[in-house]
Amino acid sequence: MQNKITIIGSGPAGCTAAIYAARAGLEPIMLEGLQPGGQLTITNEVENYPPFASTTGPGLMAEMRSHCLAAGVVIVARIVERIETARRGGYICFLDDGSQLVSTTLVIATGARANWLGLPSEDAFKGRGVSACATCDGYFYRGRDVIVVGGGNTAVEEALYLSNLANKVTLIHRRDTLRAEKVLQTRLMSKNNVSIVWNAEIREIVGDHMGVTGAVIRRSDGTLNDIAAHGIFVAIGHAPETSIVGALLALDPAGYIPVVPGTSITSAPGIFAAGDVADPVYRQAITSAGMGCQAALDAERYLSGL
Ligand code: FAD
Ligand code: NAP
Repeated sequence: MQNKITIIGSGPAGCTAAIYAARAGLEPIMLEGLQPGGQLTITNEVENYPPFASTTGPGLMAEMRSHCLAAGVVIVARIVERIETARRGGYICFLDDGSQLVSTTLVIATGARANWLGLPSEDAFKGRGVSACATCDGYFYRGRDVIVVGGGNTAVEEALYLSNLANKVTLIHRRDTLRAEKVLQTRLMSKNNVSIVWNAEIREIVGDHMGVTGAVIRRSDGTLNDIAAHGIFVAIGHAPETSIVGALLALDPAGYIPVVPGTSITSAPGIFAAGDVADPVYRQAITSAGMGCQAALDAERYLSGL
C-alpha cells in the first residue's frame, strides 16, 4: 500500500508539515527519528516562539505533538535508514525495524546538528551556560561576559548579536584569520566590547552548581590561560542531517538541501524539504515551522497535479 505523504522528522518543521498535511486530508505519517521533538527538546527556555513569551523546549514540542495527534497525524517512532525510488513512482523508506513505507511524496525535515567541541566538560554544562545558539540563549547573558568559539560567519554573527546584550564578548579562534566574510569582520572589529583571542582552543569549560564560570584555553605556543565567562557559545559549524537523502537529492557544498527559492521543492519530484536541513541561514524554530507549512502545501499541489 502506498500512502500520500510521509514526513521524516518531528521537530517544528516536521510537526507543522504534518498538521497542514492532515488538515488537507493527506493522512500523513510522521516518522519521529532518534530525537522525538527535535533539537528544541535539548533546551530549557524558549522565549522567541510567538505567542509564548516564555516556554520550555520540551514543553513546546509536547504541545506540537499533541496538536499533530489531534489533527489526525499518525506518528511512528522509527528511524529512516535509507530511501529508494519506487518502481511505480514515489519513494520507499526503509525503517530501522526492517519494515518499509512507500509514499508518493516525502517531506524531509531531518534538521541540522550544531557541531560541538567534544569535551566532556562541554557536555556537562550544555543548557547551563554552554549553547550553540546566541539568538536563542543570548538574552540570558545580558550584562554578563561571554565567550564565542569559532571563526566562520556563524561565530562572527553570534559575537555581533551578543555584543548588543553582553558586557564583554571574547571570540576564541583556533587560527590567526577569520573565515567569516570581510563585511562581518569589519563590523566585529568596530565593536568596543569584543576582543579576539587568536590561535587558541578551549581545553576545558569550568563551572559550579550554578553553571559556567569560565574556560581554560590553550594558545598555539602551549600556554594555558583562564578566561572568566558565564556563557560559552560554540559556533564551529552545523551539520545538516542529509545522510539518508544524499543519493537522491542534490545538496549544496555545505551539505544542505537546496530548494527552489520561496518553495520547499527539491531536485527530486515529490520530495520537499523544510527546516534546518534546508536552511543554512536562519535555523530557528519559527522559520522551520513556516517551512514545514510550505512543504505540506507544496506536496498537496504536487499530489493534485498527478
Ligand atoms: P530538528 O528540530 O532538528 O528536528 C529534526 C527531526 O528529524 C528530529 O525529530 C529527528 O529525530 C528527525 N530525524 C533526523 N534524522 C532522521 C531519520 N533518519 N529518520 C527519522 N527521523 C529523523 N530556535 C528557536 O527558535 N528558539 C530557541 O530558543 C532555540 N533554542 C535552541 C537551543 C538549542 C540548544 C539548539 C540546539 C537549537 C535551538 N534552536 C532554537 C534552534 C531550533 O531548535 C531549530 O531551528 C529547530 O529545531 C529546527 O527544526 P527542524 O524541524 O528543522 O529540525
Ligand atoms: P564554517 O564556515 O564551517 O566555520 C566554522 C568555524 O569553526 C571555522 O572558523 C573553523 O575554524 C571553526 N572550527 C571548526 N571546528 C572547530 C573545532 N573543533 N574547534 C575550534 N574551531 C573549529 O561554519 P559556519 O560559520 O556555521 O557557517 C556554515 C555555512 O553557513 C557557511 O557556508 C557560511 O558562509 C554560512 N553562513 C552564512 C551566513 C551569512 O551569509 N550571513 C551566516 C552564517 C552562516 P577554521 O576556520 O580554522 O576552519
